[in-house]
Formats: sequence, C-alpha cells, structure tokens
Amino acid sequence: MATVISEETATLRGAMTPLPYRVARKRRENHDNWTLELEPVDAAIDPIGPGQFTMLYAFGVGEVPISTSGDVETTGTTLVHTIRAVGAVTKALCASVPGDVVGVRGPFGNRWPIDAARGRDLVVVGGGVGLPPLRPAVYHALAHRADFGKLVVLYGGRTPDDLLFRKELERWRSRLDLAVEVSVDSAGSGWNGNVGVVTRLIPSAPFDPDDAVAFVVGPEIMMRFTARALIDRGVPADRIWISMERTMRCGVGLCGHCQLGPTLICRDGPVYRWDELAPLLGVPEL
Ligand SMILES: Cc1cc2nc3c(=O)[nH]c(=O)nc-3n(C[C@H](O)[C@H](O)[C@H](O)COP(=O)(O)OP(=O)(O)OC[C@H]3O[C@@H](n4cnc5c(N)ncnc54)[C@H](O)[C@@H]3O)c2cc1C
Repeated sequence: MATVISEETATLRGAMTPLPYRVARKRRENHDNWTLELEPVDAAIDPIGPGQFTMLYAFGVGEVPISTSGDVETTGTTLVHTIRAVGAVTKALCASVPGDVVGVRGPFGNRWPIDAARGRDLVVVGGGVGLPPLRPAVYHALAHRADFGKLVVLYGGRTPDDLLFRKELERWRSRLDLAVEVSVDSAGSGWNGNVGVVTRLIPSAPFDPDDAVAFVVGPEIMMRFTARALIDRGVPADRIWISMERTMRCGVGLCGHCQLGPTLICRDGPVYRWDELAPLLGVPEL
C-alpha cells in the first residue's frame, strides 16, 4: 500500500536531500580561504538570497553551513561560497578541485533586510571571514545604487595577509559612489593603511547615523563592539542587523543544535536585529 506523507514532510525530506553540484571554479583568497563556484549537476536548489546559506556536504566527511558570497542577481544557478579551512569538513571542501562533486542543501535562513536600507545610508561592517556573507548585499546596493544613500564598507582583519577580496576592495575603493575603509589589528612595514580594530573606523565614517542602516558580520565579540560603536554614533539599535553563527546540523529547525534562546538560528536567523538579539546574548547595556 502506498504511504501518504504530508506536504510538510515531503518539503522537509526534500530539504534534507543534498543535490549534487560540481566544482566549476576554485580561487584562493588568502592562506586559509578559498572561493568555490558550484554548478548543479542536474537539478538546482531554489535561488539563494543575500544573507542566506546552504549546507555543503563533502561526501564521506560531513556537512557545514556556508553563506553565499556571490552576486546572486547575476550568477544564475551557480553558487559562490567563500570557505575558511578550519576543520575536517571545511578543509575537505577547500581541498576539492574543479570537476569534484559536493552535495548542496538549501537555501536556508533569512536574508539581509535590504528593503529596510532602501532610501537610507547603508553601512556594512565585516570582520575577518565576515566579509563574504556581506558581499551579496554590497553587490545589490551597487547594482541598484540610486536606491540607497551613502554606501560605506568597513572591513577589519587581523593582519594584511588575513584580508579577503583585496583586489575587489581596491576596485570598490576607486569608485566615487562608495566609501571603503580597511583596518588591520597588526601590520608590518609594508602596510600603509589603518591599524586598529574595525570599530575605530566607525566614528569618522561618512554616513548619517540618523538615516543609516547597518549590516554586521564577524566574530561575536567584534559584532558586539561594532553594535556599541554604531549606537554611540547615533544609529538606532533597531537599524543594526547582525548575522549569527552557531554549529548547525539539519538547517531546517529540527535538530536544535543552533538554538539561541527561544530562536533557532537556521530557521529564524542567521540575520537578527540587534535590539532583538542583544537580550539573547545577555548584553547588559540593552
Ligand atoms: C549560518 C552560517 C554561515 C556560515 N558561513 C560561512 C562562510 O560563508 N564561510 C566559512 O568559512 N564559514 C562559514 N560558517 C562557519 C562554518 O560553518 C564552520 O567553520 C564549519 O561548520 C566548521 O566545520 P569543520 O568540520 O570544518 O570544523 P570543526 O571540526 O567543526 O571545527 C574546527 C575548528 O573550528 C572552530 N569552529 C567551528 N565552527 C566555527 C564557527 N562557526 N566559527 C568559528 N570557529 C568555528 C571549532 O571550534 C574548531 O576549533 C558559517 C556558519 C553558519 C552557522
């Protein structure tokens, strides 16, 4: 007898089945980060949006959440992911070569609230490997430049060697309709740029705090201090958005690994409004 399953169960089953994607191109970004461009072998996942992530499966090793770092409006069914090799799965993904096949589930999570920034200044603050998840939002703002006020990208890394997308940052910097400031925590003699934590760039960055929306990604401590600095500058807490990272397994709100207070980051996040997120992190000043 045929088993009848509900539409919801069928959808979840679909969401739990990785689709094969072939590594089409691979680019080294720095000493421990690679960007993979993945093309569907057969069927493609639904279009991914800025801020969303997929579960990437290195067959026989494991599966990890990785954000889209590409220009989602122009890449079609090709997925662009920038991955830092930190452990078993990310090292296996970064060791893959063009022609290899990986599994993809998704897209999962919510998107950057780009509509909330439309008509206002958009301030994007990235720390370390926090820049890749922000890049699709920057691409969107550049492609629809007239929809936004000032566009500001602030980026911090530990050292110049840890910075991602350096050539692209230089290209962006040469534009007259975008302000880019980069800072490193420590640098040798070959670095003529800013030195210090990224939050130091906030007081003098060219945006109007009364009319700005901020998107922030980086290590949790950096995101806390960035939110604080933005608030000190006058940006309201409900116009600051943060993308959270936690260990994930299912990606669809079933396993509970990524629980944060009453929310599940895979289902309700990863993008949260700071005034709603801060109490969950136990940040006393809000
Ligand atoms: C929504 C979301 C989006 C993400 N997007 C990206 C992305 O675009 N690019 C990217 O490189 N990574 C991203 N990550 C982080 C990535 O999923 C983890 O680095 C990965 O799960 C590590 O798995 P692993 O098996 O390689 O390492 P593991 O063996 O699990 O861990 C190896 C080491 O890395 C540390 N580690 C594990 N997870 C993290 C983490 N999330 N942050 C910091 N340190 C960690 C561990 O403590 C351990 O020391 C994202 C995570 C989430 C939740």
